[in-house]
Amino acid sequence: MNGGRPKETNILKVIDMKVSAERCHHCGACVGSCPQNAIFMNDFVLEFGDACNRCKRCIRLCPAGAISEEG
Ligand code: SF4
Ligand code: SF4
Repeated sequence: MNGGRPKETNILKVIDMKVSAERCHHCGACVGSCPQNAIFMNDFVLEFGDACNRCKRCIRLCPAGAISEEG
C-alpha cells in the first residue's frame, strides 16, 4: 500500500516561458506590462514566477521578439 497519495497533475507547469539572451536588450517593457506581475529582472536575467498564467501578452509586446513558450 502506498497510502493512496493523490497524483498531482498541472498542465501549466509543462509549458515554460523562455527568453532569448541574444535578442533581449533589457528594455523592461515586459516586466511592466505583465498583468500578473510575474516577470522579474535580476542582473539582466528575466525570470518568470508561478503567477504567470501563459496569457502570452509579453510574447506579443516584446519589441525584440525575445520571448517564446517551450513545452
Ligand atoms: S520586452 Fe523583450 S527585450 Fe524588453 S526586457 Fe522583455 S524580453 Fe527583453
Ligand atoms: S504570459 Fe502573461 S502572465 Fe505570463 S509572464 Fe507573460 S504577460 Fe505575464
